Amino acid sequence: MNSLVVEHLFVRYGARSHPAVSDVSFEVPAGRNVGIIGESGSGKSSLAKAIVGLAPIAGGCIRLGAQTLCAPGSGFPATARSKVQLVFQNAGASLNPRMTVGQAIGESLRLRSDIAGGARARSAQVSEYLERVGLPGLVAQRYPHQLSGGQKQRVCLARALALRPQIIILDEATSSLDVSAQAQMLDLLSHVQDEMGVTYLVISHDLAVVSQLCEHLVVMYRSHVVERGPAIRVLSAPRHPYTHVLRQSTPTIRRRDPASVISELQDVSADHLITQGCPFHPRCFQGPARRPDRVICVTSAPDLVNGVACHFPLRDSDTSDAMAPAGLTQHPNAHGARFDRRAPRIAGERDGG
Ligand code: SF4
Repeated sequence: MNSLVVEHLFVRYGARSHPAVSDVSFEVPAGRNVGIIGESGSGKSSLAKAIVGLAPIAGGCIRLGAQTLCAPGSGFPATARSKVQLVFQNAGASLNPRMTVGQAIGESLRLRSDIAGGARARSAQVSEYLERVGLPGLVAQRYPHQLSGGQKQRVCLARALALRPQIIILDEATSSLDVSAQAQMLDLLSHVQDEMGVTYLVISHDLAVVSQLCEHLVVMYRSHVVERGPAIRVLSAPRHPYTHVLRQSTPTIRRRDPASVISELQDVSADHLITQGCPFHPRCFQGPARRPDRVICVTSAPDLVNGVACHFPLRDSDTSDAMAPAGLTQHPNAHGARFDRRAPRIAGERDGG
């Protein structure tokens, strides 16, 4: 198994457009899940597509072990297609309605050279992969419209697993499921990881999902990485004001501090007008909107230093656990044995400062 390394990645959909991903670097060590979080438009899905060669790379590169997957001007190598798989949010749209489940998974199996014995051997393998994702073998005869949303998502996972990938990117893969189906899917993902040794890159706006699956988090805002680090630290004591806002935005049945920062933040719709300084400064409760003396936030974009891109990072006392939504800090990883406080080596980050 190899680590996935993203180095100084830029994704741009048009020569004059604002980059969808700007100078993003992080590593997904083999066997240690990483979560990418951020609101809509932060660049998470563009990043996922870039890793599998579906988005235009304007700079930087992506490597799996020693193999370069993507770089400007180079195509995604055919030999790497099976190694990194992407599971989308909308399972219904990613399954061909004219193909049975067996045919869909069989297509993946046909790409493997190690399965001898033709259709009969592939059929046995289809049943095996369906059972791995908790579905009976007879589901192979069904069409996508005959399945529930949770079953379709399991079929997509089985189809990805049939290629024996090293990395599976889960792009909001549980977002369309109801609460109980989502919980079952998260348990299944952990079980599959234990059995098959696959590594997940989890892209989600749902902090509860990433807190269950991931050891490390990368927080994105307007195409940039604004914070990264061990999941338990990022969720329990965020250093970037945006991460704190994300955490506070998680629905909770507990009474919230009426002075909550969220209601006082500036309208997000003005964000695209920011071309200078910290992109978060109009919304920031630590920035010049509340502290006029912090002019540097308007004039200079902060670098990512020691895991946070902020001129005035929060201290632990600013973001106590008492303010964290229930279910995030108490259970940073439901599968605690996998949790590891060591930060992975991060490509392109400065020390000090
Ligand atoms: S640099 Fe300034 S405006 Fe940006 S997040 Fe930090 S404190 Fe807020």
